[in-house]
Amino acid sequence: MKTIETNGRRYSWMTDPVVIVCVDGCEYDYLERAASSGATPFIASLLKPGHAFKADAVVPTFTNPNNLSIVTGVPPAVHGICGNYFYDRETDAEVMMNDPKYLRAPTALAAFADAGAKVAVVTAKDKLRKLLGHKLKGICFSSEKAAEATLAENGIEKVVEMVGMPVPSVYSAELSEFVFAAGVKLMETRRPDLMYLSTTDYVQHKCAPGSEGANAFYAMMDKYLARLDAMGAVVALTADHGMNAKTKADGSPDVIYLQDLLDGWIGAGRARVILPITDPYVVHHGALGSFATIYLEERERELVRTRLAGMAGIELALHNADACKRFELPPERMGDLVVISTRHVVLGTSGSRHDLSGLDAPLRSHGGISEQVVPILVNRAASVAEGRRLRNFDVLDIALNAIASRSTQAAGERARVG
Ligand SMILES: [Zn+2]
Repeated sequence: MKTIETNGRRYSWMTDPVVIVCVDGCEYDYLERAASSGATPFIASLLKPGHAFKADAVVPTFTNPNNLSIVTGVPPAVHGICGNYFYDRETDAEVMMNDPKYLRAPTALAAFADAGAKVAVVTAKDKLRKLLGHKLKGICFSSEKAAEATLAENGIEKVVEMVGMPVPSVYSAELSEFVFAAGVKLMETRRPDLMYLSTTDYVQHKCAPGSEGANAFYAMMDKYLARLDAMGAVVALTADHGMNAKTKADGSPDVIYLQDLLDGWIGAGRARVILPITDPYVVHHGALGSFATIYLEERERELVRTRLAGMAGIELALHNADACKRFELPPERMGDLVVISTRHVVLGTSGSRHDLSGLDAPLRSHGGISEQVVPILVNRAASVAEGRRLRNFDVLDIALNAIASRSTQAAGERARVG
């Protein structure tokens, strides 16, 4: 049997097309609530033993670290992407981490393409495209920039015509629908061996599990997933992180502004607070998440850490080494302290630096340990060893190594019927 090895993991070659779906911000509850409302018959059919699993995402529970873990099969300590944004100690600058130069491991997508598989990647926002498509010989484009796709840059052209849907706003549910519609068209017309679809969490930031908006989103997704299933693909779904309400009883955001706090404790500007959730698209969360990292002088670290750890709303305050060991992060890209807030609390820098005027719904966000549990759903029965701690970045292992092949499953069905 042909296998392929990358980043120390071995994968069986696919016998049917494999579609890995990363549903951004998909708290497990979204699936269960949508299924019980009757909105998602296909997803409902998978919420059973052997098809539905709970897995741990990477902390910080942000989009880029987790998407990169899923496509490389390893944690950020290995692939290097530990946030959307970081403070580069070498250049003394705060920079986005979406440039492939920060990626230290090859993706399994590129490895399969190099070995001869037809590979396609579709992402909602363009910020992920270059990382996911790094050194990939295949198709890779975003919904956001679908109209600009060229053969030379994206391995495909005339995407908008192919999908038959106008390019949606970057703040919309349709940006994710475009990903699924493109995935189905690609499967119909080119039948890739391996496809990675990654959505955006615009809806999850606004709508709680079971709400009308959430159920409508999952109903949309359900139809496309069912079509991929009907075309004979192995469909395996996971998420980059969960999502929780981050509000006080009155509905206003429950924020601890760390920079303001530290300026008061040790003097203005003596500590630098970095929020790795920061990216160019912050309207729906105001750059507020449950994870922060702090740069400050050594002699002040333990005092600050102890004070933070004792505060209401703080789940964890750790020194760099302890945090990087526990969460498998690259120490040189994290601050001297790592701070994680509790389920319904977020961390900010200074109050004056967060524009919350774009928040038209009570704040929902992520980043902490409280958003670590995510689903893995697969449309073929998978056998997973009892007691194994599943990670979301095991999804490719499950889709390729843990499922019974279709012929074996069909034989099993016949045996049961007989
Ligand atoms: Zn996300």
